[in-house]
Amino acid sequence: MPATTIVRPSRESVITIRADGSRSFLHPADVRGRFARARKIAAAALIVFYLALPWITINGHPAVFLDVAELRFHLFGLTFAAQDLWLVFFVITGLGFSLFFVTALFGRVWCGWACPHTVFLDHVFRRIERWIEGDAVRRRALRDAPLSAAKIARRVAKHGLYLFAAATITHLLLAYFVSLPEVWAMVRVEPARHWGAFVFMVVATGVLYFNFAWFREQLCIVICPYGRIQSALIDDHSLVIGYDAERGEPRGKNKAGAGDPALQRTVGDCIDCNRCVQVCSTGIDIRQGLQMECVGCTACIDACDEVMDRLARPRGLIRYDSQRALAGGRTRWIRPRTLLYFGLLLIGATVATWALSTVRPASLGVTRMIGAPYVIDATTVRNQFLVRLVNKRNTPARFTLTIMGAPAELRVVGFDGEVEVAAMGEVVHPLVLQQPRLSYIAPFHLVVTVRDSAGQYQLTRAVEFLGPEARLLREEEKERREKR
Ligand code: SF4
Ligand code: SF4
Repeated sequence: MPATTIVRPSRESVITIRADGSRSFLHPADVRGRFARARKIAAAALIVFYLALPWITINGHPAVFLDVAELRFHLFGLTFAAQDLWLVFFVITGLGFSLFFVTALFGRVWCGWACPHTVFLDHVFRRIERWIEGDAVRRRALRDAPLSAAKIARRVAKHGLYLFAAATITHLLLAYFVSLPEVWAMVRVEPARHWGAFVFMVVATGVLYFNFAWFREQLCIVICPYGRIQSALIDDHSLVIGYDAERGEPRGKNKAGAGDPALQRTVGDCIDCNRCVQVCSTGIDIRQGLQMECVGCTACIDACDEVMDRLARPRGLIRYDSQRALAGGRTRWIRPRTLLYFGLLLIGATVATWALSTVRPASLGVTRMIGAPYVIDATTVRNQFLVRLVNKRNTPARFTLTIMGAPAELRVVGFDGEVEVAAMGEVVHPLVLQQPRLSYIAPFHLVVTVRDSAGQYQLTRAVEFLGPEARLLREEEKERREKR
């Protein structure tokens, strides 16, 4: 592999792509400091959270379980059937507006602190790399060293551990879709018994391995859509990680005239040590201003604070601040953009709360049977429906059906007594409504109501009873009588 020579590109180019289009693979230096410590704690908590969710059981199901076999989605005790899919729209838009709001206020705080890609890359895969191959200097030396048994051994160990980590993440990811006991059962039998899941596991492990072993920061720079819309979401008042050029420039190694106030401003606080660039996980120089590639990882803050500590100068030459404040102005937290995003967030949260409150442990569907909308025989007008009951709980449930708003003469056939629906099961039952011909006057509306036997909830569906024009029925009846 050729040596990494980071040539400062123009602002329009990506720093990790060389002029000939080849990749410049980064080896960010290690960094210590308050933000590195805080991110480590946050990452550990998040990794435990991501990995623990399939193990936590609420109402008999994993806390987050997208049951693809049964087409059910279990989310912290709530169960959604395929019919509840419309709720996903509100959940996604709610999350989208929350992210807009947070980004307008705090920039890429999500990317730097909570995105699963950053968390696993910085705190699992880069850690493995550092453990096997050493710090950035050693890693570069190993990269440039000729092939040897020691080099091969380190590379095999590193990539073996990468594959193991990628496979572990994939299996836990699979548990979100088929449950942990099912994953465990699949692991213990040959792949031929579950080809679909096996192929998913192999492909997902390969993709994760490729991403975390090689692609890395390119995902944030080139692919992630959230990264691409940053410039539209933030403004001069959003919190970003920035360099205080007023304080740092002009750069220089020696603070000329130390002790002589007249000369002190000849050189700024930045000693041009390049430490902030060496630690950057996307290889950029934050001193050139805010750039799309900055994922807000805070490494440059810690690196520069360490330098300032050694020089006995105040910390914060690189810091969390708004671009307005870095330029000497004041940050405004309340502004049209944040108010708009907050308003949209509130609307989304209200609608999502309402939508979630409508979710019941069962669902009811009433559809008219295929064919003629009504049937007429010698004595009645008949409407035929199919009633579909889905039980979303993991215990059997019993239901009774009543028709509300029906004329006294209406006869209900096909749904007598209680109907039992198995745990997580579904029943499709015919429902026939008969109205005597002579009492039928015009189409009318009814409400099909289903109650669970425990009396905890009821489900309703409005339907319309259809029939011919009453005048035609009367004329037909008159003709029949005359024939007799
Ligand atoms: S780490 Fe600080 S002092 Fe060193 S180059 Fe970066 S901004 Fe300047
Ligand atoms: S500029 Fe700083 S915060 Fe941004 S990616 Fe580089 S090191 Fe992380």
